[in-house]
Amino acid sequence: MDLNEFKLIYDKDRTVIQNKKEIENKLRGILGDNNISTSEIDIFAYSKDASLIGHTWTLEGIIAGLADYITWPDTKEHIVGILKLANEEKIPVIPFGEGSGVVGGAIPIRGGIIIDMKKFNNIIEINDKDLTVTVETGINGMNLERLLKVKGYTTGHIPQSLYTSSVGGWIAHKAAGQFSTKYGKIEDIILGMEIILPQGEIINFKPIVRNATGPQFDKIFIGNEGTLGIVTTATLRIWPLPAKRTLISYAFPTFEDSLEAVRHILREQVYPAVVRIYDKDETSRHFRDVEKASEKVMIIFVCEGNERLVDLEEQITREQCEKFSGIDCGEHPVEHWFETRFKVTETSTSPQYKLTVDTIEVASSWENAAKMYHHVTETVKQIKGLLLFTAHISHFYPNGIGMYFSFGGVEMGEQTSFDFYQKVWNTTMKAVLESGGSIAHHHGIGINRSGWMEKEWGKSFKILKEIKKIIDPNNIFNPGKIFDNTWKGGAN
Ligand SMILES: Cc1cc2nc3c(=O)[nH]c(=O)nc-3n(C[C@H](O)[C@H](O)[C@H](O)COP(=O)(O)OP(=O)(O)OC[C@H]3O[C@@H](n4cnc5c(N)ncnc54)[C@H](O)[C@@H]3O)c2cc1C
Repeated sequence: MDLNEFKLIYDKDRTVIQNKKEIENKLRGILGDNNISTSEIDIFAYSKDASLIGHTWTLEGIIAGLADYITWPDTKEHIVGILKLANEEKIPVIPFGEGSGVVGGAIPIRGGIIIDMKKFNNIIEINDKDLTVTVETGINGMNLERLLKVKGYTTGHIPQSLYTSSVGGWIAHKAAGQFSTKYGKIEDIILGMEIILPQGEIINFKPIVRNATGPQFDKIFIGNEGTLGIVTTATLRIWPLPAKRTLISYAFPTFEDSLEAVRHILREQVYPAVVRIYDKDETSRHFRDVEKASEKVMIIFVCEGNERLVDLEEQITREQCEKFSGIDCGEHPVEHWFETRFKVTETSTSPQYKLTVDTIEVASSWENAAKMYHHVTETVKQIKGLLLFTAHISHFYPNGIGMYFSFGGVEMGEQTSFDFYQKVWNTTMKAVLESGGSIAHHHGIGINRSGWMEKEWGKSFKILKEIKKIIDPNNIFNPGKIFDNTWKGGAN
């Protein structure tokens, strides 16, 4: 393999390391020879995350970013050693979980040292009385759930990427799982954390249910996307495995009816673990064989927990669905979802047919939800080359929703696939803000949304940038993300 044959897409501000071999030797001194690599194949393996445009780039001979060193520390001292060296030499470091991020968060666009957290993979303690588990954050999500299940627990945090993501990545990208309407999003699940700051200082936020000890400083590290520190351990809430699970589905005449049904269910303080509304196009794609759902909007529900409570949740859920013209479609659509919920071959095989595809998740209040759906859909559908634009809603709150768009299309005329991709992203971001929504619900900022941070945050973004300067004065932590607008760059 010759990496020079690839075109680097984000190489404008790449850090040039003059004394590369000398630094490699120092890293070997810190980590030992088994925990570092500079081989081309390893550098290539860490050149992208799971962003769907990454598959297109690989076929087009494009690389997103090349690190200089790949490291797999297995002690905190290793991490501290790497950080001290990186600060002395002003070399970027990029924390790495499992690379399942979909917005470019873990891509080493300025070169530097990848710190892969895979060897931090232990469960430290399960506390039955407090219902908590403390883990090292490199642990794989599915492994954590498997180990908890044996003991009769779950975190309730089940992202579609469960098999391919880590606890550290969940915290860093502010993740939300498929069962989030009942169990909460990652910020509701995390109780405590240990963090190594950019200059090597280790800080601890003790696992406590709540405190009134000044501003909630710990929250700044949830969603930090590897730009403010490395989370090394975390304490998460756990739950006893549910005693009962009930599967419900209803089809509705309109998107608005479906929204109203769910809004009213939540107003009754009923929180089914899974709630998913599919717009008409997604309903016909996923539930082709459900005749009653033809030309309709499908909602699937999973109620789980204590038997008596689940029965009551079912009763209230059905009442509200029927009040808003829902037609009962039985258990089969939910069983189908359970069977296919981790399957993503449809999207990952698209690039070989020259289709550029991706997903974009955003947030809205109930007030603006339908308006946002229609405004975004109508605006994006005007883009030349767009073949598909659909939506589902899979995360709910009493006060609003997280909406998830999927798109596919082909570049037209002079456009590159990346131009087309950026156009759909930018049009969606703009339309979401015009509708009073927020540009990201659970995939984070990474590269793709970095150009929209100022518009999203307004004046407070300036303060956030000042905080970053204090915590990471040499800007070595994952530069080119959140705090820098890298998005405007392209492969031209
Ligand atoms: C098919 C598919 C389905 C998905 N489904 C969901 C879903 O249901 N819900 C959801 O929320 N997301 C989903 N995602 C997105 C992705 O899985 C999440 O963003 C996940 O949280 C990333 O975890 P990771 O360990 O792979 O992190 P990575 O991709 O390795 O890293 C992501 C970011 O976190 C930083 N980081 C990683 N570990 C640490 C650490 N220990 N300390 C500090 N920073 C760190 C990195 O620098 C990077 O900026 C999906 C992705 C795919 C490909």
